[in-house]
Amino acid sequence: MNRDELGDLLKRSFGFESFRPLQREIMEASLAGRDVFALLPTGGGKSLCYQLPALIRPGLTVVVSPLIALMKDQVDAMDVMGIPATCLNSTLDARESQRRQQKLARGEYRLLYVAPERLMLDGFLQDLRCRHIALIAVDEAHCISEWGHDFRPEYRRLTELRDILPKVPILALTATATERVRYDILRQLRLQDPAVYVGEFNRPNLTYRVVAKHRPYDQVLAFVRARPSDSGIVYCQSRRSVEQLAERLREDDVPARPYHAGLAAEDRNRHQELFLRDEIRVVTATIAFGMGINKPNVRFVIHYDLPKNIEGYYQETGRAGRDGLPADCLLLFGAGDTVKYAQFIEQKADPNEQVIARRQLQEIVHYAESARCRRIDLLGYFGEEFAAEDCVACDNCLSPKETVDGTVAAQKFLSCVYRIREKSGFGVGLNHVIEVLTGAATEKIRRWRHETLSTYGVGLEHSRQEWAAIGRELMRLGLVQQTAEKFSIVELTAQGRTVLSQRTAVTLSRQMAPPASDAPASASGKSQRAERAGRIVCDEMLFERLRRLRKHLADERNVPAYIVFSDVSLRQMARDVPRDERAFARITGVGEKKLAEFAEVFLAEIATHAEANRAM
Ligand code: ADP
Ligand code: MG
Ligand code: ZN
Repeated sequence: MNRDELGDLLKRSFGFESFRPLQREIMEASLAGRDVFALLPTGGGKSLCYQLPALIRPGLTVVVSPLIALMKDQVDAMDVMGIPATCLNSTLDARESQRRQQKLARGEYRLLYVAPERLMLDGFLQDLRCRHIALIAVDEAHCISEWGHDFRPEYRRLTELRDILPKVPILALTATATERVRYDILRQLRLQDPAVYVGEFNRPNLTYRVVAKHRPYDQVLAFVRARPSDSGIVYCQSRRSVEQLAERLREDDVPARPYHAGLAAEDRNRHQELFLRDEIRVVTATIAFGMGINKPNVRFVIHYDLPKNIEGYYQETGRAGRDGLPADCLLLFGAGDTVKYAQFIEQKADPNEQVIARRQLQEIVHYAESARCRRIDLLGYFGEEFAAEDCVACDNCLSPKETVDGTVAAQKFLSCVYRIREKSGFGVGLNHVIEVLTGAATEKIRRWRHETLSTYGVGLEHSRQEWAAIGRELMRLGLVQQTAEKFSIVELTAQGRTVLSQRTAVTLSRQMAPPASDAPASASGKSQRAERAGRIVCDEMLFERLRRLRKHLADERNVPAYIVFSDVSLRQMARDVPRDERAFARITGVGEKKLAEFAEVFLAEIATHAEANRAM
């Protein structure tokens, strides 16, 4: 194959100038007939890895996908680009299904999207085998693993693929990164000597922020109002808060709808559809809303409640900014959530699960309270090292937390831990340490005679909550550690003992203040940083105008707006202001088919706008 066939097709069919990281490598290995495992972050462009080669290789590319909405979306997108694709799933009536199968038999499609249960139906694959299947792409491959957060039993049957089609190469794609899940995917799909590609997980266009949760509803409303034309997701813990939040937002004139697993499927689908089509701005949701949200212009993700763990947080925030333009991730962090979760964990029946859940809670609380670059913690979780200098945007890098000299507080805390162990011969939990420091009169203190300790009541200058935060920060600094058992015990580390004995200076961060401003990142950071985060500075009025046109065209075709053009394309138009077809063809996302279909209307709109401006 000539090396630039891929590049040429990329521009001609998809209108893209260059490949995203690893896309070319993945396609080339797959086209060479190898099994491939590709782990790319959300928004990394996994779909292209099977869509583009489908145009090159003879035969049919079969794509396994877990969600009907997802398939429909991709088929619509292929349609607008003029690529013959279809899907088969349970929503089609018998006649339509038959019609598609006949066209399949005649070899009229390059791509077939299909749900796993359909693919593994008796006879279906045998039928397909008579035709030439060039590749099986398993999208969202982590669904095969019970260790993933999206396990789908139907995916399990894909294990049989290798027996039925021993010669057809498999391409497995996912954004879920844990070691365990990776291993499961390779093993269960029985990939043979696979080429493995693991992308970089940093998402430079996302800004991560954590703010203290004060009046969460008002905080969300202010945030959403500061971005009047952006859409986003607000994740909540419970179904009830999902519904209440949507309701209140609507009362405040923010077009919002709820999404959770307790809603009728019909309502859920309708709300998702409204969101995809930009009819509503906000979806309030439980984590049931996630995979399959292919909408590339989700501009913000808010966590109204504390997420369960860092991995979940990474995946959920990952749904923002797939198009590569700047997007905001905001976490509202309140001590109340931590307490609620801890209680919830205690009710779990399985002690193993409890240990894991406690550990995860500790990690996410540390993340929320941390003063260092958010990316270090997020990426560190996936084993990726990150240097804070490379951070484009997180609250701790943009406006470093104020620090205070915490030497005295640290000395008091550390010596209290030390004295308790010295006196009693056993360790105690964080709460008890705080009770001693603040001179509480509890039953345990009396029983263990801890009121006789020299550190008893020496910490009255701080509230109990402040001491708890100080304790947690000392953990992050590695001076004390906490065990993950039910009654977790606080102990000095070797480093903590050194700091205590040598009276080393300790710097602590000032506790989180309420957000200084609710303005979008782009407004506060008209700086280089925003530039680096991929912002496209353009004529906003023209952009708005083009958005309206796009919506109109999308509605006519009964597809989501982004299937006509992405925000990236529109912003480029509003920046470069193309005046003729040649200039229009240079806009990203403009392939041959879209050029023929849309150049004229968009050029006309751009000309009208220029005209109106001149008149002013
Ligand atoms: P993933 O499945 O990895 O989350 P998608 O396949 O949905 O990502 O792609 C995310 C977005 O990136 C889509 O809007 C897609 O059109 C766009 N995209 C993919 N590859 C490229 C590329 N090489 N250049 C520009 N945009 C791309
Ligand atoms: Mg995808
Ligand atoms: Zn940072």
